[in-house]
Amino acid sequence: MIPEVETEVGRDELGDLRTDLDTDEVVTAWLMLALGKGREHAGNDGYDDSASQHYSWDDTVQNHARVSVGDVIALWDRKELIGVSVIEAIDIASAEKTLYSCPQCGRADIKRRQREKPAYRCGKCGHLFPTPRQKIKSVTTYRSVHGRRWMNGRGLLSGSELRALCDSPKSQLSMRPARWERLRQALLDATGQASTVKDIAAAARLAVAGGHRESVVRTRVGQEAFRARLLREQGEVCAFTGPTPADALEAAHLYSYAESGEHHEYGGLLLRRDIHRLFDLGHIAVDLASGTLDVIPSLHGYPCYAQLHGQPVAVQLRPEHRVWLDAHWLGKRPHA
Ligand SMILES: [Zn+2]
Repeated sequence: MIPEVETEVGRDELGDLRTDLDTDEVVTAWLMLALGKGREHAGNDGYDDSASQHYSWDDTVQNHARVSVGDVIALWDRKELIGVSVIEAIDIASAEKTLYSCPQCGRADIKRRQREKPAYRCGKCGHLFPTPRQKIKSVTTYRSVHGRRWMNGRGLLSGSELRALCDSPKSQLSMRPARWERLRQALLDATGQASTVKDIAAAARLAVAGGHRESVVRTRVGQEAFRARLLREQGEVCAFTGPTPADALEAAHLYSYAESGEHHEYGGLLLRRDIHRLFDLGHIAVDLASGTLDVIPSLHGYPCYAQLHGQPVAVQLRPEHRVWLDAHWLGKRPHA
């Protein structure tokens, strides 16, 4: 998200900012490599990064368990900065991952060749082969939630400038520790947008001061069990649109939108798959003042969504649901 207002900041404001920010050495920052869809990942199937909202990794990656809520996250694609934000939550789950390796030496350092046959070459032993060895491994997956403070960074800092912000500029790690005070200064120098950088710093400090670095780390292990429980409790009903076959229902985790992830026993609602997606995007929200659905105007051209606008929700909301739906409303509809 590009900040809406780009203000020129005077010297005084920058001066204030520096004093303000001097107290935040406790902030930890990470430089995360996100190559998106075109990601060349011979060793595995890659991850589902959508930079402005989430960053995903798993326990095969170095530093995987060191990243915390409240840490500053800077995403880059080796060429340049993509953007910067503060981690609001980390969702933890388990998954099966396919790992590919050299059939001769077993290393994962293999490259797919564009034209030559056989299609693969091992970077370690030089072996050429048509198909890599495959192994299914159970991994712990991590996904950061960081959409709220996202600051678009395209064009601001180059790859070499970013490397220089790290303790080890020559590191090859996809997740490497960075120096927040250096990153902060580099962003200030590049943008002059004191307010945005200040926002990021304040959010990071708040998360640390609030002490919920750990408590907001939420476990999503047992996604299927969670959905099954919701189906038992709520039946085959989409919470927004009414009766729906179980096959088309998904468990929506409401607490992704809240600051605190502590009480999530009633943190879910069943939603129709398309509704769930539109809800995640903030295109459908619940206006708690009236208890009705709010559908953004750009969807009003689609009769199936237009007719939902202003309709009451289809289930009885618990107080917990209301808290989370309110956080969703505020998070997604700052203008409302
Ligand atoms: Zn090999």
